[in-house]
Order: sequence, then C-alpha cells, then structure tokens
Amino acid sequence: MTVMKSELIKLLDFPRQKMTASMELHQCAHNGFFDETDIRCRTCYQGGECTWVNHNDKLVALEDKTLSDLTAQIVLAMDFIDATLEPEHEYQLKCQCDNCSWLTQANNALRALDQSEANSN
Ligand SMILES: [Zn+2]
Repeated sequence: MTVMKSELIKLLDFPRQKMTASMELHQCAHNGFFDETDIRCRTCYQGGECTWVNHNDKLVALEDKTLSDLTAQIVLAMDFIDATLEPEHEYQLKCQCDNCSWLTQANNALRALDQSEANSN
C-alpha cells in the first residue's frame, strides 16, 4: 500500500483546526501569522502551535512539500493531539472520539508509509 500525499494532507486538517481553535489570537499582534522578525513571536508561549499552523496552512502549497516533510508535520501534530487528551482519557484504538480516531488514522498512515519505504529499498 502506498500512502498518497493527499492522504497526509487531509490528515493535517484536523490538528490544524484544533490548533487554530486553541490559539488565543486576541493576544496575538499578528492575528496568528508567525513573524520571525518579531521578538514577541519568537518568545510567545504559543509559538510552537502558531509555527505549525502557518507551516501547514491551506494557503501554503502542501502538494509541493516532500513526503518526509509532511510526515514530520504529522508526527508533530500527533504529539499535539495526544497532549490535548484529558489525563483520564488515554488514547485507545477502539475509542471513537475525534482525537483517538485521528490518532489511529495518523498511526496507520505512518505505518503504511514505513512499509512502502521498506519495499522501495
Ligand atoms: Zn478517545
């Protein structure tokens, strides 16, 4: 099974929405657009998520990104989604909630990717 880029790009939708929703943009001078020349951005406590969202914004040509770049973004997003789970709500394969089913999809995609890479070597 080969993983299509479009599949990975589609996977980025959910964490993008979650991150955008979790950012407190009323405190942001740039309305969520990371500006690396601004010291406030570089020291912002929300920095990581903002960078991720901007890196993976719909406006950015995701199709042009390499498979390994997209994979790296998925891995980052998995950490983020995993961190948003309630402490008493551990990730479970069988759980149907948004977060768990996304994590399952992301896991599957990464595993399929590993296999297709192993096959092509
Ligand atoms: Zn769940």
